Parts: sequence; structure tokens; C-alpha cells
Amino acid sequence: MSKHVIIIGGGIIGLCSAYYLQKEGHQVTVIDKSNMDSGASYVNAGYITPSHFVSLASPGMLSKGIKWMFNPKSPLYIKLRLDVDFMKWAWAFKKSATASKVEQSITPLLDINLLSRDLYEDLKKSKDFNFHYERKGLLMCYKTDKVGEEEWEVGKRGIEEGLKVEHLLAKEVSEIEPDANLNIKGAVYYHSDAHMTPNNFMQEMLLFLKESGVSIFKNETVVDVAINKQNISKVITDKQDLECDEVVLAAGSWSPKLSKKIGLKLLLQAGKGYSINAKINTKITIPSILCEAKVAVTPMDGFTRFAGTMELAGVNHNINPVRVNAIAKASASYYNNLNITLEEKSQAKCGLRPCSPDGLPYIGRSSKCKNFTVASGHAMMGWSLGPATGMLVSELISEKQTSLDISTFHPDRKF
Ligand SMILES: Cc1cc2nc3c(=O)[nH]c(=O)nc-3n(C[C@H](O)[C@H](O)[C@H](O)COP(=O)(O)OP(=O)(O)OC[C@H]3O[C@@H](n4cnc5c(N)ncnc54)[C@H](O)[C@@H]3O)c2cc1C
Repeated sequence: MSKHVIIIGGGIIGLCSAYYLQKEGHQVTVIDKSNMDSGASYVNAGYITPSHFVSLASPGMLSKGIKWMFNPKSPLYIKLRLDVDFMKWAWAFKKSATASKVEQSITPLLDINLLSRDLYEDLKKSKDFNFHYERKGLLMCYKTDKVGEEEWEVGKRGIEEGLKVEHLLAKEVSEIEPDANLNIKGAVYYHSDAHMTPNNFMQEMLLFLKESGVSIFKNETVVDVAINKQNISKVITDKQDLECDEVVLAAGSWSPKLSKKIGLKLLLQAGKGYSINAKINTKITIPSILCEAKVAVTPMDGFTRFAGTMELAGVNHNINPVRVNAIAKASASYYNNLNITLEEKSQAKCGLRPCSPDGLPYIGRSSKCKNFTVASGHAMMGWSLGPATGMLVSELISEKQTSLDISTFHPDRKF
């Protein structure tokens, strides 16, 4: 049965949900408060990440967060705040950051990542789009033996899970990346991963959706919902009231503000990240994570993107030049001859990753309302998980069997 589905938020998650819902024959409306040309879904590193099967909430991350908290140049920054939602989130993060919880989340994270990568490849093959997508893998580059050993431990776990992973010496890296002139000790190479140019895909997807009859309302903010007998009957924006059969919450870092209106207390914090687009002479062809610096380097369509920093400091888009410079400086220490210009640094952009406390997304129908589906909290993997999330949302709303067991991602889960 065709339904009128309203999607709140037109980032990668909202647009992918719209795509699969309209393919199922639903009438779809996407509402976004922005001009739909900026934010996390545009500035990210564009990685498709089966390699990221260890959740953000890991024991190591907790100790690093405490160590780095007071360093303005560190890749992870947590601003301590007397804010009840932040304190509840931090407590849930601490409880989630245990070896056994990380272990339990490996299979669900890997399964959804692999499904999503396959769906991107189907989209690439379809006649609907023409976007940049390359499957060249991901190099986890390291400078110190300690980090190399840690990365290889994860790599070996990846092999056990069925991924193709190799441990390369510096000279082996230079054979596959001869013109990058890397200054490293070695790299763990995940063949499973792919990369894209996010802006390019977002524009293609928007165009396709408009041509397919999806209604897109830009620069319009959802302010409330009308609920009748545990059903959302209307979505209320700053411009109009819209009747609906189903509502999908895909509002990224703003999701908790709206979920509260339905009575769902979604634990979620914004994790700000920065990216710099540079036209460099160094020829980088394989995406890399510079492990000690936690910088992601992606060869995109026409430029190279340097992305990094996880700043847990509330919902704001203030750009801190100290952190932008730290990303550029750290990158230059991994590539001999790399030069990111002052102008490129001055044009750095930021985006907010919607971070759940356990590093797993929220995907599912909340018990708070019968026609309310949550698709948020994807943190560092939202780009990667866009198509899989969109397909799962569409399957839920179409009352079909989901392609994966999504119980681990339930939005009502307790921490
Ligand atoms: C620097 C950086 C690098 C990253 N690298 C990667 C990567 O390589 N791979 C990867 O998988 N992920 C990566 N990520 C994470 C990824 O970008 C995010 O997880 C993803 O973009 C989140 O998508 P989203 O659609 O949930 O949220 P968003 O993109 O934030 O979209 C939410 C939308 O909701 C709208 N909205 C909010 N409130 C309202 C309202 N009340 N009414 C109407 N509209 C509303 C907003 O305007 C926004 O457009 C990175 C992120 C950053 C910042």
C-alpha cells in the first residue's frame, strides 16, 4: 500500500531513505531546514568502510579522550558541560566502551557496512546516476611500531571476519602508491573499502529524487508534530502543516530535539569534524587514514580532501583554525613535499557527526508512536551506511522482512 512518508532531514540518510521509499511506490516528502548544500553529508571523507567494524565507543577511545581533553590541537576534544543530555550521553558512552560490547557490535557493523557498499555498487551500475565511486581499499598508515601493532591486531580480526587485509612495509606501500612519497613505517591495507566524492553524489541524488516526483522542501524547519492516538497525523513546519501516514526522523545531530516531541529521549551528541579540499602536487590515489594523527585523506573528483577531528562540544558550526592547522600540519608530516595552501586552509568546512553513545546507529520503529521510524546516530559511518539505512527504512515502512537483523540498532535501546 502506498503511503505518504515525510522525511525530516535531507542529509545522506534522508535522501537514501527517500530513494528506496519512492522505488517501493510511496509518495515521499523531504523537509530540510538548510539549503541542502552543506554539513556532514557534504564535507565528509567519503569512505565506504567495511574496515570500521570496531565501534567508536571502544575502551581505547575513552582513555585517549581523557588524555587529549585539554589539548587544543588533539584529534579528539570533549568539552565538559553541565548539560544533562551530555552527561547522560557520556555515562552511556563509558558503559558501552567495554571489550565485550565492542565484540558484540562487530558483526552487526560489518554486515550493514558490507550491505551498504554493495548497494552503492548497484546504484553506480544503475542508469539512474553518474557519480564518482572507486573501490581501491583503505590504507591505515602508521609511523610508530606501537600503532602498527595495534592496527594489525584489528586487521587480523578483520581477516577472521572474512575481509582481505594485508600488513605492508613502507616499501610495499610505495610500490602501490609510488608518487605519494609517504613518510611512514608501514600500513594495514583493507581491500574491502571504497571511496566517493560526497558533494557529487548528493547533487546527483537530489536531482534524481526531484525528477522521480519526490517533494523536496529546502530552507523549511520542522518545529513540531501533531499526535493523535499514538499516530503522528501532521508534521508542522515554520511554513505549513503537512498530513502524513509515516514519519522518518533523519535529522542527524538535531534528531534528539525532535524525538523529544514524540517522547523518545534519544541519546546523541554532535561530533564536529573539519575538512580541507586541496589541489596538491603529491599524487595520492589510495585513500589513507594517518593513524597517529587520525586524519583521513581521500583522492576525490578533482581535489584531495584532508578530514579529521572529533570535537564533542555541542551543536555549532564554529570553525577553530587551530584544529584546521593541526590537520594540515599532521598531514604534511606523513607526505614529504605536501603543501596545503593558506587559502585552502582558510576555506575549511565543518560538519556534525550524529554520535550515539555505543557507536551504533539508531535504525528502527520507536514504540513511542506507531508510524515513527528513526534513522540517525551513524557517527563516523553515516556516509558509508546511507544506502543500507535507506533500504532498511523502506522495508520497515513497507512492512517487509528487513534485509538484516536490525535489533541491535533499535532506537528504544537502553544503555
Ligand atoms: C569531517 C567528517 C568526515 C567524515 N567522514 C566520513 C567517512 O569517510 N565515511 C562515513 O561513512 N562517514 C563519515 N562522516 C560521517 C558522516 O558524514 C555522517 O555520519 C553523515 O553525514 C550523517 O548524515 P545524516 O543524514 O544523518 O545527517 P546530516 O547530514 O547532518 O543531515 C541531517 C539534516 O537534517 C536537517 N535538519 C535538522 N533538523 C531539522 C529540522 N528541525 N527540520 C528540517 N530539517 C532538519 C539538517 O539541516 C541536515 O541537513 C564524516 C563526518 C565528518 C564531519
